[in-house]
Amino acid sequence: LLEARDLHKSFGGGWSRKPRIQAVDGVSLGVRPGETLGVVGESGSGKSTLARLLVGLEEPTSGTVLIDGAEVGRRRSRELHRKVQFVFQDPSGALNPRKTVAAILEAPLIHLLGMPKPDRRRRVEELMDLVNLRPEFLDRHPHELSGGQAQRIGIARALAADPRLIVLDEPVSALDVSIQAQILNLLNRLKADLGLAYLFISHDLAVVESLSDTVAVMRQGRIVEQAPRRTLFAAPKHPYTRTLLASVP
Ligand code: ATP
Ligand code: MG
Repeated sequence: LLEARDLHKSFGGGWSRKPRIQAVDGVSLGVRPGETLGVVGESGSGKSTLARLLVGLEEPTSGTVLIDGAEVGRRRSRELHRKVQFVFQDPSGALNPRKTVAAILEAPLIHLLGMPKPDRRRRVEELMDLVNLRPEFLDRHPHELSGGQAQRIGIARALAADPRLIVLDEPVSALDVSIQAQILNLLNRLKADLGLAYLFISHDLAVVESLSDTVAVMRQGRIVEQAPRRTLFAAPKHPYTRTLLASVP
């Protein structure tokens, strides 16, 4: 479904006076349909940069991203944009503050699916139902939502495109622990019900463990170890993975 081949991304250097940073330094990975790949790594290890490369928000310095075997080029096609959606860390900051929830959810239906107006209203209500929010929230603006509610809208907006894969970059990190559990349950249920694949990014090992089929450990722009979840947690091979696991109480 999603494949990355030897992705590199560096910042600075060249004509700028800033030192050159290799944010992503040769990452290859694959996500199969219905599978969740968890990417774990400490702050600054390049997780968000990788996520932005995978969804086409940033261009790699070198390497390729393929979706269903088709290379994602300079201009992402509407079809690729539809298949792979993105959920950000900061729930309300990622939503247009001037739009109502209804308008936020309608936008992908219009721009990515070209859905006619009468169908849109019904679909928007279905989406609200999928993320367990009452329809009365449709007239609110993002600042009138709690963090957990805003993240549900962020997820509903991603679902609106009928994606096959969602890249989630720290989707629960900004939320209270009790709300985190609710959102993780929601993501698990949606995955099972809709057959979605996730690329799930977090610095939090417990969160990654609760959702992932396969786990990749990222350090300084590279994936140092990748294994099925159970194997990785029970028998980590790389010394860095062992250090990471040992740091969890
Ligand atoms: P966190 O857990 O804190 O979100 P991260 O793993 O997501 O960290 P990135 O945000 O991908 O890490 O950053 C990786 C490295 O790239 C960091 O050293 C960061 O300073 C640098 N970096 C990221 N974006 C840019 C940019 N636009 N310009 C310059 N450097 C950047
Ligand atoms: Mg990040």
